[in-house]
Amino acid sequence: MNAITHDLARALASAPASSLPSSLFGLPDQAPHEKVLLAADAQTGLRAILAVHSTARGPAFGGCRFWSYDNELAALNDALRLSQGMSLKNALADLPFGGGKAVIIKPQGEFDRAALFAAFGRAVQSLAGDYITAEDVGTTTADMRGMLAHTQFVSGIPRDGGAFGGDPSPKTAYGVFVSIDEGVKRVLGRSSLEGVRVAIQGLGAVGWHLAEYLHQAGAQLIVADIDAAKVERAQAQFGAQAVAIDAIIAADADVLAPCALGATLSAASVPTISAKLVAGAANNQLATAAEGDALQARGITYLPDYLVNAGGIISVAREYRGEGEEGRVMAEVGRIRERVAELLERVRSEHSTPARVADAWARSKLVKPAA
Ligand code: NAD
Repeated sequence: MNAITHDLARALASAPASSLPSSLFGLPDQAPHEKVLLAADAQTGLRAILAVHSTARGPAFGGCRFWSYDNELAALNDALRLSQGMSLKNALADLPFGGGKAVIIKPQGEFDRAALFAAFGRAVQSLAGDYITAEDVGTTTADMRGMLAHTQFVSGIPRDGGAFGGDPSPKTAYGVFVSIDEGVKRVLGRSSLEGVRVAIQGLGAVGWHLAEYLHQAGAQLIVADIDAAKVERAQAQFGAQAVAIDAIIAADADVLAPCALGATLSAASVPTISAKLVAGAANNQLATAAEGDALQARGITYLPDYLVNAGGIISVAREYRGEGEEGRVMAEVGRIRERVAELLERVRSEHSTPARVADAWARSKLVKPAA
């Protein structure tokens, strides 16, 4: 494993000033990261960033993203933002884990996927348990299983012949579903999801399962995905209305569920939203903290991503601890509903915004949990 500091130095030298993180130790609105490992392996083409934001509650736990980034700084920014989000997510979910995240920069051209993830597994192992990995965008249960030969600090692998564990996406979707259901009752004053119009941006692993739950509950779906085949399937299976990629945020809907990538709620997009409730799986939906205030000012209730999308980490964390029994995990994910209710109560009593209240609430829990 070689440090790739020279690559980063080159990127720093050539990047426009506006794209540089203000500090390599963390973003301006964060506590500094405890540890950030740049890991490279010439043989496999691995270039990965493993970010350990906080181990205050326990080992840092968070998925591994496999993505094509414009440059290394964009990858570093993503890793730092995502790993802080995991600290907040794991704390609010009352898990005995801190926050961390890894990104692997997708190599250009041909590469050996198994060898690449083996090298990544060795990098995870080198952190000696400070960081535990699992799936995120671009990684699969097969990738996680392949890593088992190289590190024991990995989760998200079907265990006991598939009886429990594995792909966290259905659990994430269930947590988002109960959050939307609770939000619809409390914010929209509707007694059920019957006839409620939900716009889903992204029909991937989570978005698709969310669509299934919502359809079963009687919601009307409006969908967009860059993959036309998924959209056609949703039209056929759920009677969903398809809209263009750039029209989904402003779709005529009651609820907006961002389930693609981050930063969809921006200064440009917030004024166009017609939904009164925003709740989805995508991490880091707010482009900046200011968008949390802007949403509230427009009378839109935003349920923070790291509160509602904790189902997957609950699943892989319980699996990792050997506590992955399906019924118990689903019940624990279902309790996200209670946190949504408590959040909305706090917002009302504190005359604040959901984003601010959730942030302060999560940060107050960044301490070692009582045994
Ligand atoms: P995925 O890659 O399976 O799905 C993403 C989907 O979004 C794909 O179908 C893709 O085609 C689509 N997409 C990409 N750009 C789009 C755009 N501009 N407009 C519309 N669609 C677009 O990923 P996933 O596992 O479903 O995760 C979705 C989001 O939820 C990610 O931000 C991820 O970090 C977050 N998340 C996932 C989990 C999990 O358990 N998988 C847990 C927590 C958070």
